[in-house]
Amino acid sequence: MELFNVYPLFDIEIEKGVNCRTYDKQGIEYLDLYGGHAVISIGHSHPFYVQKISQQAEKLVFYSNSIVNKLQEELAQKLGKLSGYDDYSLFLVNSGAEANENALKLASFHNGRTKVIAFEKSFHGRTSAAVHVTDNPKINAAINDGFEVDFLPLNDIDAVRQSLSKGDVCAVIIEGIQGVGGIRIPEIDFLKALSDECKMHDTILILDEVQSGYGRSGRFFAHQYADIRPDMITIAKGMGNGFPIGGVLISPKFEARYGLLGTTFGGSHLACVAAIAVLDVLKADHLIENAGKTGEYIMDELRKIPGIKEVRGKGLMIGIEFDQPVSEIRKRLLYEKKIFTGVSGNNIIRLLPPLCLTKADAAIFIQKFKELL
Ligand code: PLP
Repeated sequence: MELFNVYPLFDIEIEKGVNCRTYDKQGIEYLDLYGGHAVISIGHSHPFYVQKISQQAEKLVFYSNSIVNKLQEELAQKLGKLSGYDDYSLFLVNSGAEANENALKLASFHNGRTKVIAFEKSFHGRTSAAVHVTDNPKINAAINDGFEVDFLPLNDIDAVRQSLSKGDVCAVIIEGIQGVGGIRIPEIDFLKALSDECKMHDTILILDEVQSGYGRSGRFFAHQYADIRPDMITIAKGMGNGFPIGGVLISPKFEARYGLLGTTFGGSHLACVAAIAVLDVLKADHLIENAGKTGEYIMDELRKIPGIKEVRGKGLMIGIEFDQPVSEIRKRLLYEKKIFTGVSGNNIIRLLPPLCLTKADAAIFIQKFKELL
């Protein structure tokens, strides 16, 4: 059987990873500034993480959500403390799309509506109920069946007010920082006003922190810069440092009842142990503060380089925009300079490194990037 060929691939086979470095079959070392698409939060193969999941794998990988699982409770407690959402509850799933799909469903159960506001260039996953935005309205319509989606310009509160005014909007879903759409940051005043407007119309505010969350922005969640408290927050990517796990943080205004939501694999024993180890390391190694500081350093240095149109971001979620397509720069960074990066659209290099990136490694990137440009 052959693989269903949907991903354009670089012909590099990574065999090993340590902190912010990966190694291919020939032993060639690469600096990883992409973290497998924002997934590697505490660094590749962190010894504490490896030890915890190895020990758990020897005991029990999975049972089901029909028995008590104390690891889920430990995860919820630690996540509540570190994120500042102690009073919310946690529903565990396996991926970002599944987290968003469950959040949208729960919102719809709550107020009985099916219309959703999302923002232009946003990305919330690739399942039928989750909002997936492309530049093609026909594709959008086909993908988003089940929910009628109103796509509005980011940071345009008047457009939001107008759409909400009919009182039929179930939920607004917005990324803490738009990732796929090009590292676009919702303005603080916009987020505050959006939160107020949602409350006024009994519309549920869902903050998609799948990419921007888990310390990447220099705060646990990117929306915490705006000092708002959404009704639900969705998480995945960095949560398991490569082990698939996602979740929805749910405000106390939603009442749980048996059968309301469900999943087979969500919150398995092994996934929980991986996610607990991530939280322990984030805290012990001060990685959220490191993301803030190292990100500032990278952005300050990038802004001094001529030829770059704009540098945007928060913490270690950084977009470097050029006037021209960047695919050649990315390829040369990888093959000549041995540095993994990502892209958003055609013109933006996207950096999503592990949160343990040191200033020394950041300086290596800046140096090599300058040489290349
Ligand atoms: N939401 C955001 C903001 C994302 O960036 C992504 C993936 O890139 C998703 C949701 C979907 O996550 P997953 O691929 O785990 O389903």
